[in-house]
Amino acid sequence: MISKADIHIHTKYSGNSKDFSFIPDSISRPEKIIKVAEKKAIDLIAITDHNTIRGGIEVEKLAPSKVIVGEEILTKDGEILGLFLNQSIPPGLSAEETIEKVKEQGGLTVAPHPYSVICPSLKNKIFYLDLDGIEVFNGFHRDGVLNRKTFQENKIIRKASLAGSDAHTERMVGNCYTTFEGESPDDLYKAIKKRKTSIGGSVTPLFQTMLWSWNTGCHIMKKSIADILMGKDIKKNTGLVIGSGLSVIPFMPVMAAIVINRYHTKKVEKEYPFENLIFNLDNKLKNNRSIDGASIDINDIANKIYLTSIENLIFNMDCNFKNRDNLDTDIDMRHTDIFNKMYANSAIEV
Ligand SMILES: [Zn+2]
Repeated sequence: MISKADIHIHTKYSGNSKDFSFIPDSISRPEKIIKVAEKKAIDLIAITDHNTIRGGIEVEKLAPSKVIVGEEILTKDGEILGLFLNQSIPPGLSAEETIEKVKEQGGLTVAPHPYSVICPSLKNKIFYLDLDGIEVFNGFHRDGVLNRKTFQENKIIRKASLAGSDAHTERMVGNCYTTFEGESPDDLYKAIKKRKTSIGGSVTPLFQTMLWSWNTGCHIMKKSIADILMGKDIKKNTGLVIGSGLSVIPFMPVMAAIVINRYHTKKVEKEYPFENLIFNLDNKLKNNRSIDGASIDINDIANKIYLTSIENLIFNMDCNFKNRDNLDTDIDMRHTDIFNKMYANSAIEV
């Protein structure tokens, strides 16, 4: 029997945004998360709040056989998901220390969105860390480039391939999922250990992020009004009522989602030019109409790929050499990393 698990879900216990302390990271309620998972036929859900397992414990009380207690831990080197945890792991440790602490309690470690351009991520450290799985499909990577890159890199690293919705609202739960043989949390644990997992589902649609902004605005407004009625910090809460009131005018969440999406796409283009080129090229080649148009010169494409891969390689080498502080510890990694990159680049079929 093949089952589905969403390995990356946030709840209202995830705390507030790092940049805007009055905005909650997620307002998802445990009972609603369970309902949505049931509706979408997701058999197991891992609750992975930021730096706490409290959400996982609360959701587990409602559906003990369906919930994996986890945490998205902010390490000095980027975020790491700990799954099957009994105790919270503090943020701020190195990736290695964090992985050790997860393993001490029998848990599993996963690199969430390793090449994210927004979240603190492990990037190429996934090549040498002792991780159990890589989130090769993150629900928030609508660009297509980052998930594809992670998938390609994991062909070299060969850890368990996992998908997580990274749901920040209830309706995002199960948008994408990991498939595995069996049905229990124990079966999922074994499947990850044996690297016998697969991925399915799709990325989070833009309208769900619009609704996320809208729901969050409504939540802040309600909470601030309640605080004003109780006489708490009236000046600050009046400001929040006005701000959140403006943010829920339907035009605002729509615009915010479009602008953030555009910003994300541009950032991906800038930080991953080679991967972006290959992705677009692949789309063009898949789309026969543009080939019939005969506007693509194959030599031109080959030259572009060659130049971009060389530029990308030189750029990465240059960054590594400039980073003298890390030179001693990273020296081995740097060479294998460059080799892997060259290998990956040459392995892509055009
Ligand atoms: Zn997350």
